[in-house]
Amino acid sequence: QKSIQLKKRPVGTPTLEDFNQVDVAIPEPSEGEVLVRTVYISVDPYLRGRMNEGKSYVPPFQLNDVISSGVVGQVETSKSEHFSEGDVVIGTLGWQEYNLANEKTIRKIDHTQAPASAYLSILGMTGLTAYFGLLDIGKPQAGEMVVVSGAAGAVGSVVGQLAKIKGARVVGIVGSDEKANLIKNKFGFDEAINYKTENVGDALAKVCPNGIDVYFENVGGEIGDAVFPLLNNFARIPVCGAISAYNKSSADIGPRVQGYLIKTSSLMQGFTVGNYAPRFKEGADALAEWLKEGKLTYEETITEGFDHTIDAFLDLFKGANVGKAIVKVSDI
Ligand code: NDP
Repeated sequence: QKSIQLKKRPVGTPTLEDFNQVDVAIPEPSEGEVLVRTVYISVDPYLRGRMNEGKSYVPPFQLNDVISSGVVGQVETSKSEHFSEGDVVIGTLGWQEYNLANEKTIRKIDHTQAPASAYLSILGMTGLTAYFGLLDIGKPQAGEMVVVSGAAGAVGSVVGQLAKIKGARVVGIVGSDEKANLIKNKFGFDEAINYKTENVGDALAKVCPNGIDVYFENVGGEIGDAVFPLLNNFARIPVCGAISAYNKSSADIGPRVQGYLIKTSSLMQGFTVGNYAPRFKEGADALAEWLKEGKLTYEETITEGFDHTIDAFLDLFKGANVGKAIVKVSDI
């Protein structure tokens, strides 16, 4: 079977040469383990951080070791009393066609309730990130102005819709006119700004004449900088990600923001979705209910074939995806 390993630690933007696709044996499960055939692999920007050396909130990948991320798969062989052949499961597993999983590290999903891929997107890690980051830290109120960057992506597209559910006005910042149209027409954003063709500060000032109450930060860099002068008093800034900085080899320095935060008594708080693990069920239930009621919708960019897994990951940094980037490896 095929397996993808980290060959060297990327310097700057990762390339195909940083990875090895190798052939390894399909392992045999021992007592308490199952063999899982990979169906869907989640490719995520945060994996870039795990390719660097050094401490973060998740340990770095080891060189010549398999890369891992969220995977939906189907049980091929079970040596666990909790799982049977054919069960569809989710867990953090390797970028391989088959994985051994300890029974304690995977859980069953019901793919008759929602498509299996949705457990990696709207009902999974990225949906929960939007839910907790926006509602717990951003706390949008009816009539407030919410701005979200990376707005056509997996997290951003859900943030905008949740802000609308709460009665806020929402502006999304994206990297193409197609994405601008998508977030307005499909996800119900009020306004969209294309940061590649517009001056973000000027455009924001125009569409947010009464200032900004919540800025959901996904990208950092100059796009984030443009928001601070427009903050209203007691604004909230959930800092979810800073993808524009992930491939930089030195510190990304911009305007100092302390003055803006003091002047407006604003709250800026970083978070990782893992902080909310004890409340995942609450979040997943709420997202599933809004999905059922038609108040939420979602997009996935599904790349077909295990051999394109690395390409799908590299595409995140080129903005090739709308909604959640997922690789389809096999059928259920
Ligand atoms: P996305 O689906 O949003 O994919 C990444 C998108 O980022 C691309 O499509 C691209 O869109 C945009 N992008 C890429 N490079 C740049 C750049 N240099 N400047 C601005 N935008 C860029 O990914 P996710 O929704 O999975 O993740 C969004 C953010 O949230 C990331 O920063 C990620 O690390 C973070 N995150 C944090 C979590 C947490 O627990 N804190 C959990 C999950 C995600 P475009 O065409 O618009 O440029």
